[in-house]
Amino acid sequence: MHHDVIVLGAGLAGLGAARDLAAAGTDVLVLEARDRVGGRVEQTRTPDGRTVQLGGEVVGHAHTAYLRLAAELGLKLVPSYVEEPGRMTRATPEGRSTGEPPHWFGPGDTATHERLSKEFAALAATVDPDDPWSHPDATALDRVSVADWLRSGGAGPAVVRLWDIGQLALAGGSYERISLLAALRKSAAVPGSGTGDYDYEDWEGLRLAEGSATLAEVLGRVLGPRIRLGSPVAAVDIRPGTCTVRLRTGEVLTAGAVVSALPVGPLRDIAVSGVSDERLASLHRQRQAVAAKFAAVYDRPFWRDAGLNGLSETEGVLGSTWPQNEGVLSALVPPERYGVLLGTPPHLRTPELLAEIAAMFGDEALRPTACHLRLWGTDPWTQGYVTQWTPGEVMAVGPLHGRHEPPFYVCGSDQWVAGYMEGAVRTGRAAAEEALRRG
Ligand SMILES: Cc1cc2nc3c(=O)[nH]c(=O)nc-3n(C[C@H](O)[C@H](O)[C@H](O)COP(=O)(O)OP(=O)(O)OC[C@H]3O[C@@H](n4cnc5c(N)ncnc54)[C@H](O)[C@@H]3O)c2cc1C
Repeated sequence: MHHDVIVLGAGLAGLGAARDLAAAGTDVLVLEARDRVGGRVEQTRTPDGRTVQLGGEVVGHAHTAYLRLAAELGLKLVPSYVEEPGRMTRATPEGRSTGEPPHWFGPGDTATHERLSKEFAALAATVDPDDPWSHPDATALDRVSVADWLRSGGAGPAVVRLWDIGQLALAGGSYERISLLAALRKSAAVPGSGTGDYDYEDWEGLRLAEGSATLAEVLGRVLGPRIRLGSPVAAVDIRPGTCTVRLRTGEVLTAGAVVSALPVGPLRDIAVSGVSDERLASLHRQRQAVAAKFAAVYDRPFWRDAGLNGLSETEGVLGSTWPQNEGVLSALVPPERYGVLLGTPPHLRTPELLAEIAAMFGDEALRPTACHLRLWGTDPWTQGYVTQWTPGEVMAVGPLHGRHEPPFYVCGSDQWVAGYMEGAVRTGRAAAEEALRRG
């Protein structure tokens, strides 16, 4: 069967690309390995009708591509957990505190933290997120980790720990192993208030009222029979005129162009021929932070009783918690602790994660009505969570990051600065636009 374009993967990137291609009159087919659309966005419902997000969840005011697509589809956005009243909790092996400063801070640490936050924002303003390679100090900035940069700026262990517990809460990997250039690039892409490394309103201030997976479900309905579920791709051969896509079943399909909307891990498992060695080497070099998501459903948001907002940064197996919906807590397990979770006998995982939450918010945390643990890092069709840029990786992946080699187009959140649903929508629609421009 021949099509104008075959899109690999029905996550937000592939669906967004396919919708634009179809709207322009292109004969497009989406091949998806799983038996559902959405990829890293997935949701379920409680018996009383609350949605529970198992993957990508919140967006920010600065996520313009996502917000535009949601508006086009008539989907409503509401404030996220960022509006939840109360104090945030930080928990470490030696103590727990709520509000600022964290319990391990001593004299002078707050001033050092604030100074370095401003210096980070000022340095980020010198980086072009679309072309970080052109920065005069690109190689040097890429070689150093964020934690080393903090220390070289006068941060003691207490300040580095505050930055790192926040980074581990996002589950993107410790700042001891994140390239400064990559962190600056991410910050430059969403500059926010210019006062730190991550502005929560700009990155996480909103969520879709009906749940983030609704966007994928709506796109799935729009595309209808143009999507083939349960169709894992095994090989792709790119030739001007006719590209060939082979499924794991052995079935062969052809197309004028191929849009890869796959995460970088599963893409490495596919035999790709007919594109340049440089293009493939750059794609295959990219890595992902592996993470797990845990969601605990309660009758009510009991953390409010103690003046808490359910938001935490922790040094347990969990890296963070936050309220995702009325009475529903989300939590992430960062890459550094993912192995510990996998080593925990499956029947002990949920009780041990609940015990960590109870240590912060009280024993009511031990009595959820439902729990969901999603091991994204070892899911064969994801193999990760968000892009991870260790020191040296921005330069090693190089300026081919996110670039197309027609008739082979690449998109997906891994092809933006740092993952996220914004990255998926932005790169997916851009890939479709480029494919249409080239006919
Ligand atoms: C736990 C978790 C929490 C997150 N939280 C947030 C958040 O709050 N906010 C935010 O903005 N982002 C968040 N993200 C990130 C966001 O969800 C993703 O970056 C985004 O959804 C990725 O979209 P994508 O289309 O690029 O890739 P994916 O959604 O991964 O889609 C790729 C598709 O390709 C398919 N596929 C893989 N291999 C093959 C194959 N061989 N053949 C055919 N199909 C294949 C997959 O099944 C999948 O459907 C989170 C992610 C996770 C996992």
